[in-house]
Amino acid sequence: MNDFIYADNAATTKLDMDAFETMKSYMLDYYGNASQPYSFAKRPKMALKNARKEIANCIGAEPDEIYFTSGGTESDNWAIRKFGFATDIRHVVTSNIEHHAVLKTCEQESRDNRCDVRYLKADNVGRINADELRSILGEKKFTETTLVSVMYANNEIGTIEPIKELCKIAHEYKAIFHTDAVQAIGHVKIDVKELGVDFLSASAHKFNGPKGIGFMYQKGGRLEQYHTGGSQEMEMRAGTEDVASIVGMAVALRKNVDAIEYNTKYLQKLEAILITDLRNAGLDFIRNGTNHLPGNVSLSFANASGEMLLHRLDLKKIFISTGSACDGKDRKISHVIQAIGVPEKYAEGTIRISLGKENTEDEVRKIAREIATILQY
Ligand code: PLP
Repeated sequence: MNDFIYADNAATTKLDMDAFETMKSYMLDYYGNASQPYSFAKRPKMALKNARKEIANCIGAEPDEIYFTSGGTESDNWAIRKFGFATDIRHVVTSNIEHHAVLKTCEQESRDNRCDVRYLKADNVGRINADELRSILGEKKFTETTLVSVMYANNEIGTIEPIKELCKIAHEYKAIFHTDAVQAIGHVKIDVKELGVDFLSASAHKFNGPKGIGFMYQKGGRLEQYHTGGSQEMEMRAGTEDVASIVGMAVALRKNVDAIEYNTKYLQKLEAILITDLRNAGLDFIRNGTNHLPGNVSLSFANASGEMLLHRLDLKKIFISTGSACDGKDRKISHVIQAIGVPEKYAEGTIRISLGKENTEDEVRKIAREIATILQY
């Protein structure tokens, strides 16, 4: 039993015990460099191959479409910086609620004149509009050197986007489609072939895998090599593979994917308890977003301070967030809360409670009770 309540699973999750046990053997026993030709490298080499196959299988991809990276940030950077082989003036159409791994990369590429960026505007529940995408791509200058990058689900408010529809439109206009699925992989069912996406970013620590490892799904060969050096990752991303983390990621993803249905029902039950208890306490708040990722509950309380709530809950050993982990040091209202136009009376009082499968009903009731106590007195 913990003496704390961890409810910030969108920031990171606890490492799965089976993933950890598997990782240990690749750190302590089978630690050979998977690229070496001798027999000691056989086991890690095989583990790498099997992990790639397992991960591909979890998202409906082929093994040679999976490239291991250091996580979501690197995968997003790769997609934005290296699509279409940088021959012509390139265009990116993204949204105003993307993670900073996409937004700041776009800003830099655009500042350095490597591409021109347009932003789709999320509506008041964080949904991206298909007609707006159609209208932008309908402008003459957009060609096959255009990348559309829209996140699968938003990390701050949990809104799941209509990716299949957006991707279909992008392809009608011969654009390439990337989705940052960092928050969604392992939590909702994803089949890349059914979605039709060209590139997809994922990060293991969001689905009970280790930190510092992730992957990039790439269909076809339209991404330029990212790191230069050795011939690892089919010559697309040089650097000695972290076999232990890769294997841990595969174990964690398989377990989470197999439990999606069960976990979704469980998390929706916890969400309902949380919201009902907060309402019964008479608190004035809005739940942000729509079509939510299981467990992601973004709440904006009237005339409150999210910052103050975070610190008061911290004193009770309850860990939540005011927005995304990367915005944690930033005191201003997050770009997502601004983009969806949360009314002034509520915006500053925004917190994100992201529940995970380890949370219990008692914990959720305690979170609601403590919030009510803080806000009522
Ligand atoms: N994209 C989204 C939507 C995220 O939520 C995050 C992390 O919070 C990232 C990208 C960055 O992932 P990583 O921490 O693996 O670099």
